[in-house]
Amino acid sequence: MNRRKATPASIIKAAALLRAGGIVAFPTETVYGLGADGLNPEACARIFEIKGRPRFDPLILHECSAARARKLFSRVPKPALKLMKRFWPGPLTLVLPKARAIPDIVTAGLPTVAVRVPANPHALALIKAARRPIAAPSANRFGALSPTSAAHVKNQLGGGPDLIIDGGRTRIGVESTIITFARGRPVLLRPGGLPLEEIEKIAGPAVRPGKAEGEAPPAPGCLKKHYAPLARLRIIAPGQKVKGGARAGYLAFSKRPAGRFRAVRVLSRRGDLREAAAGLFAALHKLESSGARLIYAERVPAHGLGRAIMDRLRRASAK
Ligand code: AMP
Ligand code: MG
Repeated sequence: MNRRKATPASIIKAAALLRAGGIVAFPTETVYGLGADGLNPEACARIFEIKGRPRFDPLILHECSAARARKLFSRVPKPALKLMKRFWPGPLTLVLPKARAIPDIVTAGLPTVAVRVPANPHALALIKAARRPIAAPSANRFGALSPTSAAHVKNQLGGGPDLIIDGGRTRIGVESTIITFARGRPVLLRPGGLPLEEIEKIAGPAVRPGKAEGEAPPAPGCLKKHYAPLARLRIIAPGQKVKGGARAGYLAFSKRPAGRFRAVRVLSRRGDLREAAAGLFAALHKLESSGARLIYAERVPAHGLGRAIMDRLRRASAK
């Protein structure tokens, strides 16, 4: 059995495993991460093997303080510094020129590196005890739904990780927002757990991928099809009439649908986007395991955390 509750003792054991080149799945406030020593290329290679992740998809390094995280970059523009001060620890990843010590396998050969400081006490204690940056993508099989509980990790990766630290459900429930900078302006590489509006208040208006201005390309590895449930997923308008039945699942934003479905999940009865994001992957896991072949997913408002939710739904629905 490689799953243990998060306790001071299990965290110490996990840190020792990481220092010895082992692989540890652990909770963050976004989703569960599959961690390895970020300065050990062989350990990082095991992450790619366990996940079945292509090597061109770079990893995010996790640190336990902004001061330590900064050292992983060779240059930090002023607005990036402001974002670190304001939002770390938190669900914000910054992509900036990398320090020399960082192995190529982490950055997929890019001159930049992605770094964040997670806001989860178990994650912070683990990184601190390991005394090195921890590379940690989501602890799922590549292309499958992200894990927001230790059971999700166990179901997908089984005995792959040397240890799974169980810290309960993750609070935010969607991956971090990824920001880089181009000519002093923030560029949104991936919407996520920190609303873009909050970032823009501190760092100014952001360039969004696909927008004419700047035409920022999406982050490498942000493939069109990703976060995919095994069933087909179709995005619909809230309350839109659809054909239900024994093979259809339904993911509602705030109101139960009329009609019969194999399984129904409501993300937030109060229509709260934070609550909806926190339960998004757990709801999709449930609908998937209900045996539904087709999942209808209602569109949510595309502001705040709704942007991240819509991004994940769009990817899950891509063929
Ligand atoms: P995750 O799979 O949630 O750990 O997120 C990793 C993602 O961060 C990758 O799939 C990329 O989209 C993005 N990323 C990591 N490093 C870089 C980088 N150097 N430049 C641009 N995007 C990056
Ligand atoms: Mg992932």
